Amino acid sequence: MKTSCLLVGFDGLRPDLVGPELTPNLCRLKAEGLTFANHVSVYPSETRVVFASLVTGATADRHGIIGNRYVDRSIQPPRYVDTADAALLEQIDLTSGGRLMTATSLGEALKTAGRSLAVLASNSRGATRCLNHKARSLGQICLSGHFDDMATPKDVVADILKSVGPLPPAVEPGTPDLEAQTLLTTAFLDHVWPRHRPDVTLLWYSEPDLSSHFSGIGAPETRRAVAHTDAEFGRILDWWLVEGRGSGVQLFAASDHGHITAHKRVSVADAMRSAGFKTSSAPGSDIDAVIVPGHVGAIYLTSPTEGNLAKAAAALMDTEWCGPIFTRGRNDVDGVVPGTLAQGLVMAEHGRSPDLYFCFRSDDRVDHYGLTGGTYFDNDRRSGLGLHGGLHPKELASLAVAAGSHFKGGAKSDLPSGVPDIAPTMLHLLGTPSPTTITGRVLTEALETTHDSQIAQTKVEQFQAESAGFVQTLERTRYGGATYLRGAWRGADSSASQD
Ligand SMILES: [Zn+2]
Repeated sequence: MKTSCLLVGFDGLRPDLVGPELTPNLCRLKAEGLTFANHVSVYPSETRVVFASLVTGATADRHGIIGNRYVDRSIQPPRYVDTADAALLEQIDLTSGGRLMTATSLGEALKTAGRSLAVLASNSRGATRCLNHKARSLGQICLSGHFDDMATPKDVVADILKSVGPLPPAVEPGTPDLEAQTLLTTAFLDHVWPRHRPDVTLLWYSEPDLSSHFSGIGAPETRRAVAHTDAEFGRILDWWLVEGRGSGVQLFAASDHGHITAHKRVSVADAMRSAGFKTSSAPGSDIDAVIVPGHVGAIYLTSPTEGNLAKAAAALMDTEWCGPIFTRGRNDVDGVVPGTLAQGLVMAEHGRSPDLYFCFRSDDRVDHYGLTGGTYFDNDRRSGLGLHGGLHPKELASLAVAAGSHFKGGAKSDLPSGVPDIAPTMLHLLGTPSPTTITGRVLTEALETTHDSQIAQTKVEQFQAESAGFVQTLERTRYGGATYLRGAWRGADSSASQD
C-alpha cells in the first residue's frame, strides 16, 4: 500500500492546552497514535522560522530564515526583510539564485523524487509561502485560507474554490479566525485528497496563535478558536478512521511553538540610546543600531566592532528585563562578548544573524488564566497577551502526535524530539532520500518496527556565561545525533527543569 503523510498544524498551540474538554479530537488521535511528550520548537521560536525548520528538517543556522524579520546585509545598502511579505520572499529567492532558504525544502525534495506536496494554510501570506517557498515554480498545490494571490497552480485552486470559495477576508485582531479553518478542511476532504492524493499534505490552522496574541493564551476567544480548530480536525480524523488510515495515510498533528504571557512593557531603544547608540527599527543613514521589532531580540550594529558589541551587550545586561544574550562564537560555547553565549549553541549562527540575539527575561509566573510562563515585552500591545520567540520552556514546548500503520498506537514517548525531525521522518516513511542539509532525525522510536531495547540514553547539557554579575544559563538535550533546546534563562537556577 502506498504511504502518504498528512500533517495538521495548530499554530501556537501549547501542548498543556490539549485535554478532553477543550480538544476531544486531539485526544482521540493520541489514543490512536504516539504522542511525543518532549517535543520542542527551534530558536527563534517564531512562526516563519519554525515553518522553515518544519519543511527543511533543519535549524535556523542551516535554512537561514533567522527571524520573522531580519536585516539583509549581503547587499548595499542593507535592507530590512519582513518575511510576512510573500512577494518579497519570492523576489529574494529569484534574485539570489534560489537561496532564500539555504537548505533544501520538502517541496524540492519531493519534486526531485517525483512526488507531490500540497500546502493549505490560513496564516499570513509570508508564513504560508514559508511552508513551500517554491510552490509556484515547482507547480505544487498551495491554497491560502484568506489570500487568492497565494494560489498555485492557479487552475487547480480556481477549481477547488468554485465549490468551497470565496475565501473569507483576514480577521480583525481579537476576532477568532474560524471560517478559514473550516474552508481549508473542506477543501482537503472534498477536493485535494480525492482528486490529487498528495504524497505529503501540510494543512496548517492559523489558530490558536492569532487569538493568543490578541486576546491572551487562556482567554475565552482563544479557547473558542482552539475548540473550533479541534472540531475541524475532528472532521479530518473521522475521514482518516474510515478511509485515510486504510489508504496508507500517516496522520500527524503538530504545533510550531507555544506561548507565554506578557507582563511588563519595556523599551529596548531607550536602553540602547542611553548607551549612546542612534537606533531605528530599520537600516538608514545616521543609524548605528537597528533594533528589529518583535519578541525576538535582534540588534544589528552598523559598525559591529568588539568595542561596540561590548557596549551594546552591557547596555542590555544592565537592565532588569534582558534574558539570555547570544553573539557570534568565540569558540563553541562562549560568545565574542564576555557574558554572552555563542549563537551556535542555539543553532542560530548564520550569515544573516544579528550581532546580538537576546531573549526578553522570562519567568514561571502564572497568568490570569492559570497558565505558567511570563515575560517582559516591547511592543505596542498590552500586558496579559501571548508572545513567543524566545527560549522559555513553554515557548519551546510544542505538540506532536503521529498515527498510522507505521506508528505505535496509544503510546507516549518521553524522548526529546523537535520540529526539524518531522520532515526526515516523513521522507523516511515515503522511502524518499533526505536532503543533506537536514539536522533533524528520523523519529524511529515511534515506529512499529522499533523495539524499546533499541532506544538509547539522552544526554542533558548545561551552559553558563557570566559577566559583571549578569549570569545566564542554557539547557539542551542530545539524542540520536540531534540537539534539542530545553530552555534558557537569566540566572544560574535550573528553572527549565522545574516543570
Ligand atoms: Zn506560529
